[in-house]
Amino acid sequence: MHPFKVLLYTPLMPLGVPTHAYFSGQQLHVAALPQTLDITQLTATLGGIEQDEWFIAWRNDADESCALKLASTDDLTIFKAHAPALLLAQLKQTHRHQRFNKTLAAALVAAVLLVTCGLWWGYGKAVYGLSTLVSITREEQFGSLLLAQLETEGSLAQTGPALEAIKHIGAQLTLHSPYHYQWRIKTDPTANAYALPGGIIVVHSGLLAKMANANELAAVLAHEVQHVEQRHALQNLLDNLGWGIAVMAVLGDVSTPIGLLTHQLGSLYFSRDKEEQADHLGYLALTDAGIAPEGMLTLLQKLAQEPQAAPAWLSSHPDSHARIENIQQLLKQHPCTHCQPLALDWDSIKQTPASPK
Ligand SMILES: [Zn+2]
Repeated sequence: MHPFKVLLYTPLMPLGVPTHAYFSGQQLHVAALPQTLDITQLTATLGGIEQDEWFIAWRNDADESCALKLASTDDLTIFKAHAPALLLAQLKQTHRHQRFNKTLAAALVAAVLLVTCGLWWGYGKAVYGLSTLVSITREEQFGSLLLAQLETEGSLAQTGPALEAIKHIGAQLTLHSPYHYQWRIKTDPTANAYALPGGIIVVHSGLLAKMANANELAAVLAHEVQHVEQRHALQNLLDNLGWGIAVMAVLGDVSTPIGLLTHQLGSLYFSRDKEEQADHLGYLALTDAGIAPEGMLTLLQKLAQEPQAAPAWLSSHPDSHARIENIQQLLKQHPCTHCQPLALDWDSIKQTPASPK
């Protein structure tokens, strides 16, 4: 037996616990763990910010991410001399993608530290911290995965005047954004709209049907765009994935865990502060673009008066009465003298059905 020193990271031990490990045949024994690990479960990778650090990662029985960090270069020498060929082959592979894996492993360590902060300061802050590790490019990859899933369900409009109107208004609201927005109409009678991470905005035909003019459409888009710009959609995704999977998503293993969430799209709740922020910044984005912001108020008032159960866009956006009051305040405090109603013939746009994909 040839033990090497390691630091063990698990959800229960997020700061890393010094222990030792050794290989015996195709099994890895870790002194601090009750069970051995089969090497086919393991991924060996190179990380580190200032200097190279070596990691072995796996998922435990609860599907949480765990990792070992080799303590020193001496331990690496022992590891290399005794590790089974499968792991050594991964390390050779890792060398070729050194830069890439370094970033990912640095993200893992940072995520582990953030979760420790989370234990002290609350999970919401840890999720916020985790979201700051995700680049815009990576966030756009998350969004594309979710969109690909949505597209398999069909009913997404590919063309039509309503989609053109959405793209036209959306472009005015996202002029200086770092995101590459994608706009979709889903043929669905529920009155809903939502934002996916990475700049994907989905509006249901059922919500379009309730709009009296293009300014109401602009108001919904302005609100949803702010859920992207303020990274609320990303934080909600990480929050709903749970800690272990969120860390794996930040690390790079995205397809499986994110797929689990697609059935919840459109019904993920935002906190009251996030809703207020999206309304407030959405209002300012409308006035910056010179679009009359009253549509925000008229649409909300109309939806809040629905005789049946609250429309989906309101039930996934709680506190509609407080929101209406806040928007009334904004209209008083920041009236837009240069704003104009949008010159789009809404009635004819609405009457032309979108062509489904
Ligand atoms: Zn919202």
